[in-house]
Amino acid sequence: MDKDEPMKRKRSQTRDEKGRCVPPFWRSGLAALLLGLLPGMTGCSDVYREVLDRPLGREVIRDPSAWWGATEGNATVYAQNPELLQEALDKISFSRTRAARLVGAPVEAEQDVCFYLVQDEALWRELSQKYAIHSNTVSLAVGNEVVCLARTREELVGDAAPHELMHVLMQQAGLRLPLAIEEGMALHFGWEINLEYHLSCGDIVQKKKSRPSGGPWMGLDALLQVTAYPREPEALLLFYAQSERLVQAVNELIGTPAMADFLRQIGVVGRGFREVLTEEYGCGAEQTAWVERVVSAPSEIVDKSYE
Ligand SMILES: [Zn+2]
Repeated sequence: MDKDEPMKRKRSQTRDEKGRCVPPFWRSGLAALLLGLLPGMTGCSDVYREVLDRPLGREVIRDPSAWWGATEGNATVYAQNPELLQEALDKISFSRTRAARLVGAPVEAEQDVCFYLVQDEALWRELSQKYAIHSNTVSLAVGNEVVCLARTREELVGDAAPHELMHVLMQQAGLRLPLAIEEGMALHFGWEINLEYHLSCGDIVQKKKSRPSGGPWMGLDALLQVTAYPREPEALLLFYAQSERLVQAVNELIGTPAMADFLRQIGVVGRGFREVLTEEYGCGAEQTAWVERVVSAPSEIVDKSYE
């Protein structure tokens, strides 16, 4: 497609018998001609207007002629590289369905989610300085919008998109969770979804995990009371590691199908973490003490007991 054409959108995806993507109608010469003859009937201006209505979209998409967009269900993806667009759309649609089920949000929810894949490093630096907590961040979510730095296919293989989707869907489901539970859900299940997607494509992916070297490791109650991301990089890493362990431990005790109800009990009904584990899932003092150890002990041996 001519790179100089304005930003356009694929409204739905079609595939040929080999499963490859078929160029949508608007890509054909006839469509371009018809759309050209009927100004006001193309999707382009509508798409541009939609982006301008989105707070993050306005900041990210400054020159619509340099972007491509595609929609599937209620996930829309914009990218500066058309080759990455289809792949990202497949992955995001898959992840959205899985994430919605996990957090107990309706799969066919009205609320949409919008992704921008940024290849321009200067733009990414500007956005991350404004919104991110950490300079190593490769993705961020604001409301229903997500920006990911994805310069290559390899960068798209990371768990950034499913991770941010988990955050967006927990917000959309109206869950008011302790930050450690929300972050732990995004870290643990974002990765699980990512793995599931790539295994289904026959890819081999490896988790990049940076383990915090120092401490202090917070106790369970202190961790549950954290309300803002630590600014200091090592403290942030520690918070992420403890949050992920917390959700892994709960998942081990109650099982993945119960996670949506667990989140609802805490994030909607407003019950306490220990109360829900004990009263809803019959966890005894030993199991709660085990969660405490998993969360607050830096030992690798603790990992082995639930991984
Ligand atoms: Zn996160």
